Amino acid sequence: MGRWVYLNGEYVPQEEAKISIFDHGFLYGDGVFEGIRAYKGRVFRLDEHIQRLFRSARAISLKIPLSPHELREKIKEVLRKNELKDAYIRVVVSRGEGDLGLDPEKCPYSQLIIITDKISIYPEKFYEEGLEVITSSVRRNSLSALDPGIKSLNYLNNILAKLEATAKGVSEAIMLNNHGYVAECTGDNLFIVEGGVLVTPPAWAGILKGITRDVVIELAREENINFEEKVFTLFSVYTSDECFLTGTAAEIIPVTRVDGRVIGDGRVGSVTKILIKKFRELTEKEGVPIYE
Ligand code: PMP
Repeated sequence: MGRWVYLNGEYVPQEEAKISIFDHGFLYGDGVFEGIRAYKGRVFRLDEHIQRLFRSARAISLKIPLSPHELREKIKEVLRKNELKDAYIRVVVSRGEGDLGLDPEKCPYSQLIIITDKISIYPEKFYEEGLEVITSSVRRNSLSALDPGIKSLNYLNNILAKLEATAKGVSEAIMLNNHGYVAECTGDNLFIVEGGVLVTPPAWAGILKGITRDVVIELAREENINFEEKVFTLFSVYTSDECFLTGTAAEIIPVTRVDGRVIGDGRVGSVTKILIKKFRELTEKEGVPIYE
């Protein structure tokens, strides 16, 4: 038997967890989600992820059928039922069943699903040698069309860029915003180091404000690394001393080649190394205990 899944108030085996083909999450990508991670029996930044889920839902007038506290407890319970300590957790809230029209008002019950799985970790080689990425020709959704700050089920924008990345033999792509400034990658935020200063695009550049991004900013402060949020172009990336990506799954992953240009001296830089070390230390000691 597979794992247990939480589906609208019940725990069901994953093979039996079914949603309606009239669910607007399926028909229109109308819904929101979160990707969360547990390390050694503790859920990392759980409350921050829950808060972001509730903010995403508010932005699309979607009612979450549990309180933040109840959701927190359900997430822990699913992990316990599946006897997981190191895990990837996916919380999905979809608009629910309606008719074939767009109108969310005709979907009376939103659906909440919690799926847990083992984490698929990137090969250690990437962390030691760095990743190669390209820039996608697909621009990140504009703030005035679909704000990337909403972690919605509508990921086609990112998937189009991901298709371009994989077609070129790499696993991530940088996405520019519609003004030509660097926004983020398909599933990760982007940082560069130039002249000793750590730089990342601000939320208004059109990004998902990553939880890992926030952790990195915190760590930089603690380590007295100069930090700035500002918009920049690809020129800054190509000429940077260091570059790395951040995300729940990827954690902090160095980038050593962008569009065929070697970043810095082609090796993982010292600022990136410090942040990776500190990040790993933090995930070992912090988090909401699953089994207490
Ligand atoms: N940007 C996008 C588009 C994402 O989907 C994600 C999450 N995978 C991130 C950034 C990183 O966010 P977090 O650190 O919260 O996982």
